[in-house]
Amino acid sequence: MLIAPSFACNGRTYRRPSHSVVIVCIDGFDPAYLAAAQTEGLCPFLARLIDHYGRWTAASALPSFTNPNNVSLITGVAPAQHGIAGNYALDPESGMPTEMTAPEFLRAETILAAGHKTGLSVAAVTAKDKLRRLLGANLPADDFHATCLSIETAASGKHGAVDPAIQSALGAEPPHIYSAEVSLVVLRVGLALLKTRKPNLLYLSTTDYVQHRYGPDEKDAIDFMVELDGLLAEIDAYGAIMVITADHGMNAKTQADGAPDVAYLQDVLDTAMPGVGARVILPITDPYVVHHGALGACSMVYLGEADVDRVTEILLALPQVDEVLPRAVAARDLELPEDRIGDLVILATPSGVLGSSRNAHDLSALKGPLRSHGGRHEQTVPFIVNRPLEDQDQLLPLRNYDAFHVALNLLSQEASHA
Ligand SMILES: [Zn+2]
Repeated sequence: MLIAPSFACNGRTYRRPSHSVVIVCIDGFDPAYLAAAQTEGLCPFLARLIDHYGRWTAASALPSFTNPNNVSLITGVAPAQHGIAGNYALDPESGMPTEMTAPEFLRAETILAAGHKTGLSVAAVTAKDKLRRLLGANLPADDFHATCLSIETAASGKHGAVDPAIQSALGAEPPHIYSAEVSLVVLRVGLALLKTRKPNLLYLSTTDYVQHRYGPDEKDAIDFMVELDGLLAEIDAYGAIMVITADHGMNAKTQADGAPDVAYLQDVLDTAMPGVGARVILPITDPYVVHHGALGACSMVYLGEADVDRVTEILLALPQVDEVLPRAVAARDLELPEDRIGDLVILATPSGVLGSSRNAHDLSALKGPLRSHGGRHEQTVPFIVNRPLEDQDQLLPLRNYDAFHVALNLLSQEASHA
């Protein structure tokens, strides 16, 4: 097969890589976690990369949730173009809340699928199965050159047989989905793939269990950073061109007494304007709510018969609410798909989170103070590279979803000397 020197995807051209390119999305990797571990000198590998190649940060896509950002990273474009603005949206025809995790909802091609079509070998590994189908959109199943697996289901052999090296990286017992271990296994499986299937493009995506549960200075968070640093160093030692970034940051979402700083928007609207049919949809809602109680920093409001100015006034008066944006403004300024967001998009303050009705959120499983994300205040994430940049001017303003662009087009393809 004739191999093209470049391939196109969603309006951008990507160079064919000289070495395996690895994009690592560390879920919920707020810059504060790196800073805390670095202060104690516990992330020597990441510290060396930053020393050599610069301390970059990037802005995530909004809402700063997991799925919109992983899809942005894998397509290289904003939610306005790829169509995934959260885990849920209200179906415009049926008026029913619809789960947006199926690949049918994707409006852009993935960089992995575009690369694979031109003869590149590609792979993606994710912790949670909810992301696997989106990341693997339009990739053939059971193809040695197109691997897409989630740790959650790979151990059961559900999504294709795995080589012995991958099986051994998975371990005898699949790690619990609410654990630090499941994220480390993502990187170990990535390493095993690099050694066996040698993908040209490899995308690795962990989970934010640790960051929801622990603050940056807590021992469990620092221990996790130490393990992560070691595994990333192994990927680097293998010769891969690497960009390490995140889907979103993370903030403590508590009041002075440690209680969650929540505004229950559906309750507020039902009390202030009963019977008008205003509906609150939370794009964070998904089956994995134990660690955040489905409370995030972005909410959609569908107005029904409610008056837009009155709703805006009521919501802006809440101490947890930072911004109330009409649909068209949100679509333009936040780069969101206009037909898949509410009449209003609500963003929370640094310490605030937005709920629907108090009785719809089970906070009994929360262990420790609430930590969450979803708004502008969790948009800043690290962006760490392991090669010199050929032209730094091309970098700004940097978005996390420029990761493949930076790795394939802007980083030196020479071997790393860090
Ligand atoms: Zn996340």
